[in-house]
Amino acid sequence: MSISQAIEKVEARYAHQPEFIQAVKEVALTIAPLYDAHPEYETFKIFERLIEPDRVIGFRINWENDKGEVQVNRGWRVQFSNALGPYKGGVRFHPTVNQSVLKFLGFEQIFKNALTGLPMGGGKGGSDFDPKGKTDNEIRRFCYAFMRELHQYVSKDIDVPAGDIGVGGREVSYMFAMYKNLTHEYGGVLTGKGVGFGGSLMRTEATGYGAVYFLENMLAAQNDSMEGKTVLVSGAGNVSLHAAEKANMLGAKVITVSDSQGTLYDESGFDQEKIDWLKKQKEQSKPLADYVEVFGGEWLAKQKPWKFKGDIAIPSATQNEVDEDDAKLMVENGIKYVAEGANMPLTAEAVDYVCLHRVHYAPGKAANAGGVAVSALEMSQNSVRQYKTFEQIDERLKAIMKNIHDCAAEASEKYGQTDNGYINYMAGANIVGFKRVADALVAYGILN
Ligand code: GLU
Repeated sequence: MSISQAIEKVEARYAHQPEFIQAVKEVALTIAPLYDAHPEYETFKIFERLIEPDRVIGFRINWENDKGEVQVNRGWRVQFSNALGPYKGGVRFHPTVNQSVLKFLGFEQIFKNALTGLPMGGGKGGSDFDPKGKTDNEIRRFCYAFMRELHQYVSKDIDVPAGDIGVGGREVSYMFAMYKNLTHEYGGVLTGKGVGFGGSLMRTEATGYGAVYFLENMLAAQNDSMEGKTVLVSGAGNVSLHAAEKANMLGAKVITVSDSQGTLYDESGFDQEKIDWLKKQKEQSKPLADYVEVFGGEWLAKQKPWKFKGDIAIPSATQNEVDEDDAKLMVENGIKYVAEGANMPLTAEAVDYVCLHRVHYAPGKAANAGGVAVSALEMSQNSVRQYKTFEQIDERLKAIMKNIHDCAAEASEKYGQTDNGYINYMAGANIVGFKRVADALVAYGILN
């Protein structure tokens, strides 16, 4: 079955899973030159195999809210591929979570994790539970109930979940406690644990910092640097605020962050004091809009950040947040670089538009791989029961992001995707990630 036939099959079989189809098509359309050069991939039906997860585990979560009422949610773990290591990927708690979203995220995770060069397969999990407005007691009860189900399917050598949207250090700690309670095992079954009880230094910062390290490499490839650049960031979660922090540390000026309620604009840029304030505000689930009373700036209710002029965009909120109209605005406003802090924040049309206008574009699976890379470092620290310093992890993260950049750029060149100095990072990253997984699968024969 050719790649195009495989796409048709996915479209027919999973017509109701648009995000998954979108993610599959993006990979399919960019790996053709690699596939053509490796007839064994076709013989072993690698693509056809990789678009079907090893398994999708679904379960029900019963829990009690503060009023003592029984609540019922749905949960899943998509174990996509363990060709390169234990299934690895975050857990998302958000009302939009469904099988399509988790399959797209799990599929992306296979190649993202492969790109890090560290031994991890790909997976993703989550629930349609909405953490918004829930008390700490409710969050704790839900996390316990979620792990009561999930623990049967995960372990440090089988499948290692972590955080994602709606799941941070607090949730990971609750889930870890339940896992430990049920299995009596203290190990690296989850990453993103608190520092001091198994967590790695820098895991919290890693995704956002990593995205900016990736950008530094993209800019260097064009003989440019972060210094003095104006940056638009979307989102105000962990990825966004740490991307803003690192960009600011490197001499860029970040003028926007946003959330589901609107965009916060500060012409003078978010310095460390402002970023610390934003982190605290978000931690306490308080409105971003309060910022204006403390520091000035402007709050644009129900608007996105892309109407402002800038050099660099780091969309870090959620999938498909940037549509073609937003991409047009970015180009009109002078954006020259886009690095995806979130997973698939640009629609397929938006990607086409920015690439057509030669905006240097880094897909999430390359640009935001820093988070899962430090998760892998957490796993290895848990195994040897020794912990590295912040500086040691930071050095590793920088080296990993540079390596991802360089491998993607090299593959873009090697497979004829670089056009007059314009690097096709999407094709390059997909080719490198896919090749690593495909070569392992060929070596295994037809198992997995
Ligand atoms: N959820 C993050 C991601 O999208 C991190 C996954 C992990 O650390 O396992 O890559």
